Amino acid sequence: MSKKVLVLGETREGALRNVSFEAIAAAKKVSDGGEVVGVLIGDSVTDFGAELINNGADRVVVVEHPHLKSYTSDGYGQAFMAVVEEENPDGIVFGHTAVGKDLSPKIASKLKSGLISDVTDIDGEGDDAVFIRPIYSGKAFEKVKMKDGLLFFTIRPNNITPLEREERSGDVSSLSVDITNLRTIVQNVVRKSAEGVDLSEAKVIVAGGRGVKSSEGFEPLQQLADLLGGAVGASRGACDADYCDYSLQIGQTGKVVTPDLYIAAGISGAIQHLAGMSNSKVIVAINKDPEANIFKVADYGIVGDLFEVIPLLTEEFKKV
Ligand code: FAD
Repeated sequence: MSKKVLVLGETREGALRNVSFEAIAAAKKVSDGGEVVGVLIGDSVTDFGAELINNGADRVVVVEHPHLKSYTSDGYGQAFMAVVEEENPDGIVFGHTAVGKDLSPKIASKLKSGLISDVTDIDGEGDDAVFIRPIYSGKAFEKVKMKDGLLFFTIRPNNITPLEREERSGDVSSLSVDITNLRTIVQNVVRKSAEGVDLSEAKVIVAGGRGVKSSEGFEPLQQLADLLGGAVGASRGACDADYCDYSLQIGQTGKVVTPDLYIAAGISGAIQHLAGMSNSKVIVAINKDPEANIFKVADYGIVGDLFEVIPLLTEEFKKV
């Protein structure tokens, strides 16, 4: 049965997040030739509509309001529910991002629907679609099917390939929503530091652990990450030791990442760290200890001192 599927288009720092395009591809897969409708919520976000269409959305609905400039659960909840009432969809797809993780249970409970969260792959199409998601901190995967009702799921960034971008045409319409009774209004966002590549969407991550030994020890890792167009991440060991900010923490209680290349330097490979990175496509581990657990999940292991190995890697990559 063909379905109308709503996809939340997420923006950040004045740009659409890649996970929005991945969500469109996921929606197409389950829509069975139905309609994929992008939803943009924000202050001035209409201009992003064309890009959602170029990436495969059939049309886009925009809800704009000054109170929606920054994400709040209340504000986005009201805006998204208004779109649901207007569109009466058969399915909804969000990215499994900070926003998606916060908003999806709220919407699912309002709609009294099920929710399949953190989907990493979809087998089959349309009504035959089976959703694959990690369980037990990534130690196993389960296959889930929604028997009936609204098909609502969130997708883990960097796992589902977006459709080929091409110039497409489609309607971008606006829906006027009266955003009322907000418990929180974000007045200002103060960043701790200038952010580079978004960790959860980075294609390359160079992560450091307690073996990096100091905040200065992260500098060679940053140089390698910059050269490869990637981001720096960290273990909780490194964050707890105050070598870096907790925003860089990867793992069970940090960010879950799936880059094409994950370089783990001076990280022992505790199960809680593996929970956040073991699905990376290629894992390179650098550790002085040949028995370190990280080597069990690594595709390439280098037994050595990271302060020798990382600069050598950087020099070699510069030649490419
Ligand atoms: P260590 O275990 O101390 O390892 C340091 C490694 O560096 C060692 O293997 C050592 O051989 C190597 N090394 C030292 N010097 C060098 C050198 N010069 N060159 C190369 N290698 C070197 N951890 C996370 O990462 N993310 C989480 O989200 C997370 N959540 C947790 C949640 C809970 C409830 C709990 C209990 C723990 C959690 N942890 C998490 C902590 C986790 O258990 C580990 O303590 C932590 O991951 C260890 O960090 P590490 O590997 O950097 O440090």
